Amino acid sequence: MNTDMTNLFHLDARDSTRLRVLQCIRAAGEISRTDIARQLDSSPATVTAACVALLDAGLIREVRGLQSESVQRGRPKVMLQVNGDAFAIVGMKVARNAILVMIVDFKGDEIGTFVSPLAASRMSARALVREMRRALDDALSAHGLPQSKIAGLALGLPGFVNGETSFMHWSSSVTERNVNFAPLFQELLPCPTFIDNDANLVAKAEHLFGAGRGLRNFLVVTIEHGVGMGIVLDGELYRGERGCGAEFGHMKVQFDGAVCQCGQRGCLEAYVGDYALLRDTSTGRSSDATKTIADILDAARSGDTLAHEVLDRASRVLGVALANLTNLFDPEHIVIARSRPRFDARYTDAMTASLARNTVQVDAPLPKITVRNLDQTMWALGAAAHGIEMVSVLKIRKRGADDVA
Ligand SMILES: [Zn+2]
Repeated sequence: MNTDMTNLFHLDARDSTRLRVLQCIRAAGEISRTDIARQLDSSPATVTAACVALLDAGLIREVRGLQSESVQRGRPKVMLQVNGDAFAIVGMKVARNAILVMIVDFKGDEIGTFVSPLAASRMSARALVREMRRALDDALSAHGLPQSKIAGLALGLPGFVNGETSFMHWSSSVTERNVNFAPLFQELLPCPTFIDNDANLVAKAEHLFGAGRGLRNFLVVTIEHGVGMGIVLDGELYRGERGCGAEFGHMKVQFDGAVCQCGQRGCLEAYVGDYALLRDTSTGRSSDATKTIADILDAARSGDTLAHEVLDRASRVLGVALANLTNLFDPEHIVIARSRPRFDARYTDAMTASLARNTVQVDAPLPKITVRNLDQTMWALGAAAHGIEMVSVLKIRKRGADDVA
């Protein structure tokens, strides 16, 4: 595979029109050429040319319209839809103790999921890509799919990751810093492979399928072992110049504060992430080794002062940090997606009060805040959605190259 992946983010005018037409068809489910031209404010001839290329590449298909108005003149209108059978795409998320795999068709409909256990929570980049290969092979055989059906794979990894260049600056799951994953993917995986920060991909899943559907400006904050964020601005995922943006978990909330897993001090996640709560409630007893966040919450409910103080501080710190976000971005909606119940009503109230107290005062309501459990499949679904987008670009660019040849 000699594909220059970085070029996938920069399309020429003709390919970018083809991509916009494909995205329009995907969003509509089923749509006529006339309506595409209307929606994209484009000429019918341009849309028709783009559709010919997309049909030739097998990315879309024609179906007969069912609407009564379309048969008024005696012949049903020809509608277009994404060709779900064209390819399968794999989304993966690296969690602490497993790789979550989701296989979808080109429409985004789920074919199946698979969980591949990891023996260690941190490993070398090469070992991680080998684990991805194992997870892929096992998932395909579990669902009886041939490898040839897979057109692309996208991975969500925690940490500072540049999706355009497949370059990872740092991740809590990888032992080295500064790794270019592109050659490892080419050597060890059988299909084009893409990578992005995992919280970005949750934001993408929320934007396409969840609470962010139809919103232009919203934020998704993920809280699990660490704290992540995805930013959607003006309908697009914002990644930053080096792919290191949106690192909400490493926003400093205390000078010379608690040590973070990134190596610096005073980061938000050093007070709010699972590892911080477990560390700060440890008492040196053997039961510490098996303690969970639910145990801390139970202890606080039964009057344990240390557990209460750690949770109360985490709630207030998170509230201040969310107020900073609101002051910076003024979003329509913030979704707080957490891996498991970590705050009961008492702590959610402490967080909300701290958020309200620290947000700049204007005579307009605060952004809507939704706190919800992070369904584990959202991680892999977001990765799969990214995979679909990148494979679309890859196929359109290949088609464009064929046209020139
Ligand atoms: Zn940090």
